[in-house]
Amino acid sequence: MIVVLKQNASELKVEELMKRLRGMGLDIHQSRGTHSTILGLVGDTSAVDIDALHALEVVETVKRIQEPYKNANRKFHPDDTVISVGDAKIGGGHFGVIAGPCSVESREQLCSVAADVKKAGASFLRGGAFKPRTSPYAFQGLRGEGIKLLLEAKKETGLPIVTEIMDLSQLFLFEDVDVIQVGARNMQNFEMLKELGRLHKPILLKRGLSSTLQELLMSAEYIMAGGNQQVILCERGIRTFETATRNTLDLSAIPALRQMTHLPIVVDPSHATGHASMVKPMAIAAAAAGADGLMIEVHNDPAHALCDGQQSLTPEQFAETMQAVNAVLPFACR
Ligand code: PEP
Ligand code: MN
Repeated sequence: MIVVLKQNASELKVEELMKRLRGMGLDIHQSRGTHSTILGLVGDTSAVDIDALHALEVVETVKRIQEPYKNANRKFHPDDTVISVGDAKIGGGHFGVIAGPCSVESREQLCSVAADVKKAGASFLRGGAFKPRTSPYAFQGLRGEGIKLLLEAKKETGLPIVTEIMDLSQLFLFEDVDVIQVGARNMQNFEMLKELGRLHKPILLKRGLSSTLQELLMSAEYIMAGGNQQVILCERGIRTFETATRNTLDLSAIPALRQMTHLPIVVDPSHATGHASMVKPMAIAAAAAGADGLMIEVHNDPAHALCDGQQSLTPEQFAETMQAVNAVLPFACR
């Protein structure tokens, strides 16, 4: 349920109202927007008398929210959420690009890619230290050593780092990581989401291989219900009958999520297509459709990459993609 307050509502009366609602066992999510202040009520609202609320001097209107996601719902928080890490921002008109190798392989590889993507305009460095691979015989990542290398690359370039956690037992290694990624395969690892909800750092939540947008938002809700409101959503393609691409990029997720939620939406055209040649067109399309950012895999030597070389751009291809994306941004749908 949401309670929209009148613009001139007195602070004292609003405090009284909030106290009364909390007394009914409800959690209140207050959102002071540019045009109005909204109280989002989370919990069992069945005992709330809507007519009595409506009658209060400070209340403009009261609405029941049908959707099961509350904190993530745009009705609770009409303004876009902006996620800031140092100088980098994503959301609310700030376009942020996360780029780097699929996996961290060595100091030389990571630092050279980091310098190149920074030069081309990326605002975050990505790199997998813990890799979810389909085959147990494939490269599994440098694990703790990979995180150390990411921190070194951050020191060299100043780029904040984004890397994936696969299990809560790894969490102690993520203390200095700027943005923790939850991969597609872990989107519904609810115990992990709850724990990440207790942190004070942004979480990049990737859409599950066969998850609906509502399920994605319910996973975001797990994180937000714990108090952590800093969630970035990532559309990375879904599993369909098509085999020409690794996944099917659901571009319509961008305008659909835009209506459903205030959280920033990032698109990963690398995992969505699985082919380097398709990354640029899909990056342009995502930017034009109103995405708040991109996540793109870049490797200094894609032919010899230990993971996902076929979908990785060279630094030159990445720089060209950035130019093309920047050219469409002024015309993007918002
Ligand atoms: C990744 O970004 O490294 C990754 C494994 O992606 P996804 O979880 O979307 O498959
Ligand atoms: Mn990858």
